[in-house]
Amino acid sequence: MTPRAINHKAIRAENRKKILSLLQKQRELTLQEIAKELDLSVPTVTTIVEQLIEEGVAQNAGVSESVAGRRPKVIQFAPDAYNMLAVDFTLDAVRIVLTNLDAAIKADATITAPDYQQMDALMETIRQETERIMADQHVRSAHVLGIGFSLPGVVDEERGLLKIAPNLGLKQVDFAQYAPLFPFPMFFENEANAAAMAELKLGVAKEMRNVVYVSVLSEGIGTGIIVGGQLYRGKNKRAGEYGHTSIMPRGLPCSCGRRGCWERYASGNVLLQGYAERTGAKLRDLTAFFDRLSVNEPVATDVFETYLDYLAIGIQDILFAQDPHYIYIGGVLSPFKEQILEPLRQRIFVENMFYTEQDVALRWTTLQANASILGAALLSCERMFHSSVTA
Ligand SMILES: [Zn+2]
Repeated sequence: MTPRAINHKAIRAENRKKILSLLQKQRELTLQEIAKELDLSVPTVTTIVEQLIEEGVAQNAGVSESVAGRRPKVIQFAPDAYNMLAVDFTLDAVRIVLTNLDAAIKADATITAPDYQQMDALMETIRQETERIMADQHVRSAHVLGIGFSLPGVVDEERGLLKIAPNLGLKQVDFAQYAPLFPFPMFFENEANAAAMAELKLGVAKEMRNVVYVSVLSEGIGTGIIVGGQLYRGKNKRAGEYGHTSIMPRGLPCSCGRRGCWERYASGNVLLQGYAERTGAKLRDLTAFFDRLSVNEPVATDVFETYLDYLAIGIQDILFAQDPHYIYIGGVLSPFKEQILEPLRQRIFVENMFYTEQDVALRWTTLQANASILGAALLSCERMFHSSVTA
C-alpha cells in the first residue's frame, strides 16, 4: 500500500472509533448529529455507520421527530453485538463473567477453591467454563472481543506475565503460553488497576481524573493509581504496592518477606483473625463479623476499632503521596459501607496541617465486588473504542 492509502485507512479507523465511542455514550443520534459533534462530513459518517450497521454494532431506530420536513434517520448503539469475557483470580475463588459492550454482566460463574499451584489444570477448567457460558448464552467466539484477567499481584500486561502474587503463592507465571486455549486475545491487569479503570469508565469518577482505588482483599491490599486519566504502573509495573509499605518496624511478618506491611494489619481477614484470637471462635466470613459488630458485641467492636486505625494510617499515607481527587475503597469491604465509611473518614481526617476533608473525596466503590472483573472485561474493548490504549 502507498503511504497515502495507509494514511487514509488509519484516519478511517480512527473515525470509526470516534463514532462508536460517541454512539455508546449518547445511545441514539442522527447521522447529522454525529457529523456535527465529531466535525466530520455527512458522507464520511454515512459510510462508516453503514458498516457498523452491517456488523451489528449499530442499528436503525426509526426517524427523528424533532425536525420538521424530511426526518433524519436515528442510529442506535447495539451493545449486545459483541461480548467480553473476564476472569478474576482471588485466594478463595476464580470468577468468570461474560458481559456485553456496556460491561453489563450476562453470565456469572465461580470456580471455588482453585489450586493455583496446578495452573495448567486451572486454565483448562477456565477454558471449559468459558465454553459452557458461551454455549448457554448462544455466543459464538467471533463475537467475543477477548478475555481479560484481573490478577492480585505485579502484572506485566504487555508480556502476559504475572511477576509475583505473594498471597496466591505465585511467581513468574507466563500466561502468554495459554493463548492457544482461547480463540480470541487474552488481556491482563493487576486487580486494583482494573478496579480503578472500571470506576473511571463506568462509575462516578468520570469527571475527576486523578484516582486511587484501594482494593482491600481477604489476604492483601492492592491500590490502583490513575493520574490524568491514565493508569500509572511504574517502571517495574509495581507502582501502588501500598499494601507492602511498612507501618510497623519489626512488625508482623508478611508473605513478601518483609515485616510490618500495611496489609498485615488492614486486609479483610485481619478482622476474622483478631476476633478468633480474642474469643477462640472462628467466624464464617466478614458478614458474620459485621453482624456481631451491628449488635455492638464488645470484642467485635474492639477488633474493629483497632482495624480502622490501621486502615486509616495507610490511606493517610496514600493521601500524602498521591494527593488525588478521589480515593475509592472497595474489595471485600464493599458490602459494609454503612459500618466503615464514616468512622474511617473521622480517623483519616483528623486535624493536621496538610489537608482537610474538602481536599479529597473519600468514596465507596460504586461497582461493589464487580469493580476488578469489569475492569478486566473493559480491557478487551479498549482497542475498539479508544484511539490509544492506556500507557
Ligand atoms: Zn509485604
